[in-house]
Amino acid sequence: MDLFEVFERFPTHESCISHLEAVRWPDDRAYCPYCGSFDVARKVENDRVGRWNCHACHASFNVLAKTIFSKTKIPLQKWFLGISLIIDAKKSLSSEQLARHLKLNAKSAWYMMVRVRAEMTNKQSGIMLEGIIEADETYVGGKPRKSNRRDDDETPKGSGPGGTKKTPVIGAVERGGKVVAKVASDLTGRGVLRFLRQSVGMGSDLITDEYRAYRAARGIFYHHSISHSRQYVDGDLHTNTIEGFWSLLKRAWYGQHHHYQRHYMPLYVGEACWKYNERNNSRAFDKFLAGCFA
Ligand SMILES: [Zn+2]
Repeated sequence: MDLFEVFERFPTHESCISHLEAVRWPDDRAYCPYCGSFDVARKVENDRVGRWNCHACHASFNVLAKTIFSKTKIPLQKWFLGISLIIDAKKSLSSEQLARHLKLNAKSAWYMMVRVRAEMTNKQSGIMLEGIIEADETYVGGKPRKSNRRDDDETPKGSGPGGTKKTPVIGAVERGGKVVAKVASDLTGRGVLRFLRQSVGMGSDLITDEYRAYRAARGIFYHHSISHSRQYVDGDLHTNTIEGFWSLLKRAWYGQHHHYQRHYMPLYVGEACWKYNERNNSRAFDKFLAGCFA
């Protein structure tokens, strides 16, 4: 859904609340987010929209409880427009851009950005890839590079005195399907194997480069390794798909020059995965909102 459509569909705070109520509680089956009881009733208040009382645990709540919107001071229309902007931004968006677009102060824009990214990141857990899988690792961070040469990007070291260290990221992608990627604390055979076990179904075809750590995967997957020193792509034996994802991730990262925010790298990776996995979904906005209550 594009920005104007969001703007038209949700012209008021009330329209956002009633939409979220319909998403969270289909068929008017509202329940208490704290104790799960259906014994709830709307409060009649003129100043605050959408308050409910729970007769079981006596909590007072609204539809935003226990979600990324909970206790927010930012109007919901801005949240909705912000989510739409973030989903649509191919190269991601800086919180400064978000602040300008939505007329938010820097702190609120940053807060919204982090919450939306965290929600996208949470939705990546439990994805299991099957079939022909390409797995690879890369290093993100440090100073933006002018060159896209692989050996330049892959070097796991700081960029000299005063340089910032790069963060290792491991990923796997199902051809024509989803991607799973994570900041890697351990790129030894054991760490790689743990990642693959969590993300790739047993018996899948696994294509990697010749990095030694992937040898640990033999016996669980049909492992095929390729040599990047060879200058040609050997039929189906390539890792072009995961390399395409790495370039998306790096464009998002370096495009924002966030090398000083290394701490937030897992959220950038999560955002890039979410967008990749919803790339063909014309209802990604609705999927995001529904996911907030899942
Ligand atoms: Zn309750």
